[in-house]
Amino acid sequence: MTGLVRRPVIEVNAGLCIGCGLCLPDCPNLALGIPDGTSRLLDERLCDGCGACVDACPEGALRIIEREARPFDHARVIERARCEGEGAVRAYLACMDERGEDELLCRARAMLGQGPDDSTGPE
Ligand code: SF4
Ligand code: SF4
Repeated sequence: MTGLVRRPVIEVNAGLCIGCGLCLPDCPNLALGIPDGTSRLLDERLCDGCGACVDACPEGALRIIEREARPFDHARVIERARCEGEGAVRAYLACMDERGEDELLCRARAMLGQGPDDSTGPE
């Protein structure tokens, strides 16, 4: 497949996962889901390999690996957060702010129609 890049991405060990869901809230990108009883990376383009979810797993089922993957897609994350609601958008913006991801934050706010100093989320 073309357009792949080697980069860090989450990997779920389905053999260890008990489907408790503790990892889901720790992913600001909403990249994880439990569609069939075990945690899954729903779309690799949502995962930026930050590793924030890894320590949430009591079973040691999550780890960051380096592999060929489609590039991280910031716009896709924003759209996913938008679909989930204002709380998800706020959480994502807060996370980028905490990480000092100023460029991504500016792009996200522009996509959401916010000014540079408006951190309150969409109307
Ligand atoms: S590594 Fe980061 S972006 Fe990827 S699933 Fe875990 S918390 Fe989400
Ligand atoms: S925290 Fe671990 S065991 Fe629980 S759903 Fe997530 S990956 Fe599975």
